[in-house]
Amino acid sequence: MMIVMTPEAGEREIDAVKAKLATTGVHVLVLPGELTTAIGAIGDPEGVRELGLEGMAGVDRVVPISRPYKLASSELAHHEPTAFSVDGRKVGGNETFCLIAGPCTVETREQTLGVARTVRAAGASMLRGGAFKPRTSPFAFKGLGVPALEILAEARAETGLPVVTEFLDTQHADAIAEYADVIQIGARNMQNYALLEVAGKLGKPVLLKRGLSSSLEELLQAADYILKEGNEAVVLCERGIRTFETATRFTLDLGAVPWLKLHTHLPVIVDPSHAAGDRRLVEPLARAAAAVGADGIIVEIAEDPEAALCDGPQQLYASDFTRFAASVTAHAALVGKRLA
Ligand code: PEP
Ligand code: MN
Repeated sequence: MMIVMTPEAGEREIDAVKAKLATTGVHVLVLPGELTTAIGAIGDPEGVRELGLEGMAGVDRVVPISRPYKLASSELAHHEPTAFSVDGRKVGGNETFCLIAGPCTVETREQTLGVARTVRAAGASMLRGGAFKPRTSPFAFKGLGVPALEILAEARAETGLPVVTEFLDTQHADAIAEYADVIQIGARNMQNYALLEVAGKLGKPVLLKRGLSSSLEELLQAADYILKEGNEAVVLCERGIRTFETATRFTLDLGAVPWLKLHTHLPVIVDPSHAAGDRRLVEPLARAAAAVGADGIIVEIAEDPEAALCDGPQQLYASDFTRFAASVTAHAALVGKRLA
């Protein structure tokens, strides 16, 4: 931490700050400047934060030097990009592109198996599908629950595709741990810290979506909650954020991808479907995500999106998915990635 003094601060104020810092055992370094003096406090930023130095006489501001996220940070000793395998599909590592596709929500066995066959035939990496759905209205369809997980298991058995499904409530932990190959934390739960800790303990890779109004620093701190449980298989997902713009469902923050690539060792994927809310935008955004360096995308598809109980307008037509997959894969190839 750096404590910047006001131009008026004298020796007495500086000494008082030094004395207070000394109580935490941090290494103190006084850096006199032309206009103001700065005091460096090296080690234990949390301890320094708790001192409340901002309120002391002569202190202008307290500036953190190290990043608030620790385990997710690329500053960490193990600098290599994190990569892990989900049933043979590599996620992360800068050489593979992970294409995850499937219905928004598992509605019926036929619907899910039909889409799963399409996903498989297009050479995609994993199948997505919601069993427990977070809905804005409590009166909307909230998913079939455990029967949906059983349908996903059947789709995996038939196609060999690993299954990505959302973990919504700690009460479902056992069922999710049993059926999911990748545990999705939805945007609305990015800051549900109790849920993150349980997800981190289930022994499965976790796909962590960015909250709709969360900063990237907050996303990485949320990832720390999972990582601190000893689970290193975490993939981050940019899925659009709330801005003043209402033309799209959310504003897809593509700049987040290269920013995250700089600041974290974790893989980063993009969800253009929930960001766009309109299938006509999904392909250009998916291509852009690949071109900007994402490690994959997660998209919604349906054979009959008009009949879908959730998110119909943004779901791609399954009949067009093979062509879509080839187009996105070609863009990933431009940055040296092949399909996982
Ligand atoms: C989803 O992927 O099913 C979903 C609900 O997305 P998000 O949490 O990003 O809104
Ligand atoms: Mn959806």
